[in-house]
Amino acid sequence: MITPIQNINLHKNKKIQPQTKIQNTKTFETKSLNLNNLPSFKYQVSFGINDENSIKKYLEERSAKLERQGLEHHKLTKKDLDNIEGIQKGIKIFENLSMRQINLIAETLKEIPAQRGCYNMCVHCYAQAMPPSYQKAENKINKISFEDFENLYKGFKELNNRLGFNIFQSQDDGYCTLFHDSDSSIIYLEDKNGQTYDYIDLSKMVNEITGLPVLFDTAGWNIKDKKTQTRMEELVEKAINSDNCDFLKFNISANPFHSLYSRSLKHYNENNVEKEEKFRNIYTTRMANVLFTLSPLLEKYDINFIARALPNDMDDVNGYRENDLIDLYNEIFAKLTKMYKDDFESGNKKVIKNKEQIGKYLLDYQSKLKEITTFLGVSGRLTNIVKDKKNEVYQNSKIREFNNSRYAAKHFENGIIDINGKYYLTNWHESYKTDIQLNYENKDKQTADINPNLRRKKINKNMLN
Ligand code: SF4
Repeated sequence: MITPIQNINLHKNKKIQPQTKIQNTKTFETKSLNLNNLPSFKYQVSFGINDENSIKKYLEERSAKLERQGLEHHKLTKKDLDNIEGIQKGIKIFENLSMRQINLIAETLKEIPAQRGCYNMCVHCYAQAMPPSYQKAENKINKISFEDFENLYKGFKELNNRLGFNIFQSQDDGYCTLFHDSDSSIIYLEDKNGQTYDYIDLSKMVNEITGLPVLFDTAGWNIKDKKTQTRMEELVEKAINSDNCDFLKFNISANPFHSLYSRSLKHYNENNVEKEEKFRNIYTTRMANVLFTLSPLLEKYDINFIARALPNDMDDVNGYRENDLIDLYNEIFAKLTKMYKDDFESGNKKVIKNKEQIGKYLLDYQSKLKEITTFLGVSGRLTNIVKDKKNEVYQNSKIREFNNSRYAAKHFENGIIDINGKYYLTNWHESYKTDIQLNYENKDKQTADINPNLRRKKINKNMLN
C-alpha cells in the first residue's frame, strides 16, 4: 500500500529555479598547463594585435602568477582577454567573434537547445513552448543540425586546447541543458549519413567541452508514442550500463500546469465531469508511466522532481495550488504502484525483478519529493491563470523585468545558443538578443522567438565591454 504524501514541505522558494541546481562535476583538467604542447594556431590579423608567441607568453606568465597565488584558476579579466585576442583565429565556429564575446558565452552559457518546440504545452512554461511542427516553416528551423552541434563541440575543444584550460571553468556551480523550450524525451540528432545521436551522446560532448553537468528534464511523453517510449527505454538501459554518465542529472517535472491536467480543470469549471476525469486520468497515467520507465535509473543515479504549484493561499486559482499537486502525486504514485505490481506478477519483470524493488523504488521516489516551489515567472500563458496583479507571485516575477538592455548586459547570468547560433541573455523573466552569433551552417535560418519576454532592445558589443 502506498503511503499518501502529506508531509511534503510547502516551501516557498525565493529564488527562481528553472532547473534544479546541482553540483558542478567538472572533469576538465585545469592544473597541468604545458604551453609547449599547445598546438600551433594560425590566425589572420583582424581584432588582432597579438601574435602567437605573445599570446603563449602571456598565458604562461598568467599561469605562473596564479600558481604563486595558490589559485587553480581565475576568471579571465578584460586585460587577459585583450592580451589573448587572436587565439581563436581559424576556429570556424568563432569566425568574427572577439575573445570578449566568446568569454561571455563561456561565463553564462546554460542552454544549447538541440530541438525547439514541445508537445507538453505547460501553462507555466517560461519559454512559452509551442509544438515542434509549429516552429518549422520555409527558411525556419526547429532543430540544430548535427554538423553545427559537432562544430560547436570541436570549436570549444580546440579553444580549450589552445588556452591550456577550460574556458568554462568560471562557472563554478553551473549546468547546461540541451533544451530551451523542449522536453528531453524528444531530443536526439541525426547526422547527414543518418547516424543517430541520443541524449547521452550529445550530453557527453557538452560535458567534455564545458565540464558542466547536463540536465535531462522531462514532463512526460504520450504513452501511445511508441518511438519516444522505445527511445526512453533504450536511454535508461544505456545509462545503467554505462560507467561514465555521472554528468547527467535527471529531473521529472510533475505539476498542475501540464496542458492535459489544465484541460481537465477547464472541463471541471464547465461542470463536464466526464471530460474532467478523462484528461486527469490521461495525465496521471502518463506520469506514472514516466516514473515506471525511468525507475531503473534509481539504482545508479539521483533522480529529482521539479514540483511547482501556486500557493495554497492564492485566490481564484482552483486546481493549481500546492495541495492540488499533492493530490496529483498521490494519484500518480497509486498508479505507479499498480504498474510495478502488474509488471512483477504478470512475469514480464520489465522493471521489477523482485518484490522488494517495489517498496524500494517507491520510497526512493517519495524521498525526492521534499518541497514544492511556488516562486514562478508569470509570463505568457500563466498570465491567464494568475490574473491578480497584486498577488505576491505576480509581483515577485514582475520586479525581475527591467526592460533595460544595458542592465541586462551587466547582470543577466544565463545564456542560450539558439539553433541558428544566435546568442541570448536571460534572467528567466525577460530575454535579450545579443549581437553574438556563432558561425553555424544554419546561421541565416529563422527560429522561434526565445522567451520569456523577448525584448526588442538588443545587447550590443559596446554594452558588454
Ligand atoms: S515540458 Fe518544459 S518546455 Fe515543454 S511546455 Fe512544459 S515547461 Fe515548456
